[in-house]
Amino acid sequence: MSDDKKIPRVQLPPDARLDTLAVREGLPASPWGENSEALFLSSSFVQPDAATAAARFANEEEAFVYTRFTNPTVTMMERRLAAMEGTEACIGTSSGMAAILLLCMGLLKVGDHVICSRSVFGSTIKLLQGEFGKFGVHTSFVSQTDVSEWRDAIQPNTRLLFAETPTNPLTEVCDIKALAEIAHAAGALLAVDNCFCSPSLQKPAELGADVIIHSGTKYLDGQGRVIAGAICGPEHIINDKLVPVMRSAGMSLSNAWVVLKGMETLSIRMREQSRRALELAQWLEQQPQVQRVYHPSLRSHPQHELAMAQQNGQGGAVVSFIVQGDGLAARANAFAVIDATQICSITANLGDTKTTITHPSSTTHGRLTEEQRLAAGIAQGLIRVAVGLEDIEDIKADLARGLQKISA
Ligand SMILES: *Cc1c(COP(=O)(O)O)cnc(C)c1O
Repeated sequence: MSDDKKIPRVQLPPDARLDTLAVREGLPASPWGENSEALFLSSSFVQPDAATAAARFANEEEAFVYTRFTNPTVTMMERRLAAMEGTEACIGTSSGMAAILLLCMGLLKVGDHVICSRSVFGSTIKLLQGEFGKFGVHTSFVSQTDVSEWRDAIQPNTRLLFAETPTNPLTEVCDIKALAEIAHAAGALLAVDNCFCSPSLQKPAELGADVIIHSGTKYLDGQGRVIAGAICGPEHIINDKLVPVMRSAGMSLSNAWVVLKGMETLSIRMREQSRRALELAQWLEQQPQVQRVYHPSLRSHPQHELAMAQQNGQGGAVVSFIVQGDGLAARANAFAVIDATQICSITANLGDTKTTITHPSSTTHGRLTEEQRLAAGIAQGLIRVAVGLEDIEDIKADLARGLQKISA
């Protein structure tokens, strides 16, 4: 396709850095010269004549046709995220789960085999095991941190390795580079769910990942306003394998504008929320009512060195900790800490400027059996805090209120 048949690009220096791309990449302004990106609320686009319409429907010319396939606001977000992840292309989806659904529909068929960490997002496990299991795609679930389990699980029909790092809520880190080598040696692809770090902390493509999954719902929007998702990767995967599925299946993104504007502040939010999370984690480590704290920037984190090398020296904004107590006493203590908060939002979402607090074993991991939960390290006393942008001293005080009740 010649350049005059393509949608034009924003003129940026070829060496523009991530934070510049986060603000500037997208589409050129319309003839009206708007400085803030326009929101195109139009389900279809008018074609100049029948022959051009035919060329555009046949993909011989790039243009906006129908919003299930393409929309200028969505394209702006896709170009921005692709530039930030350092991939050729990106496709926006209606949610993070829709991104994983699209990935599997586009890349897998009956008889294919997938290897996935046991510690990934719960709905990802349900989707792979339940829904795709039903269609004859088998998934082996392996350790998040033991690379040899991934290697040993390879079969002749393995097509996809699926990783998420760090994980929710225990922030366990896997070695993206090592997993990419295992995948490629077997002729398979590595997909990494980069939701917790975002490209401002971690760029999986640079470490060898083939496709990157995003829940735009989390840090990309960053203010808890929308459900959105995306897949980044090379053109031969995004354009040839995934766009055709999107055209027929329609898990299209409609909230791209909110995510697009959220991404402009992504790096400063991630840096600041990571820094505050570490400060909170260090404070929690000193509280006598707290048994254990999980955050990748803590020296006590089992994959601390790997996390710091892989995540741009930052731990991310999620801190989890276990309050003291056995069994149901631990659960009561965790509930007491959560219920004593006056600032934190009691909600399972994360990636918001508002700090959120969750009891994983009764919410996000509530559908598992107690045995499955314990195998995954989800204790009854475990609390997850996704640190936002309030003054961290106020968040410490908010947690101290409940912690003090435990010792009383
Ligand atoms: C939230 C989340 C998802 C799913 O994203 P939705 O936008 O809620 O569909 C996938 N992976 C991870 C790691 C998440 O935290």
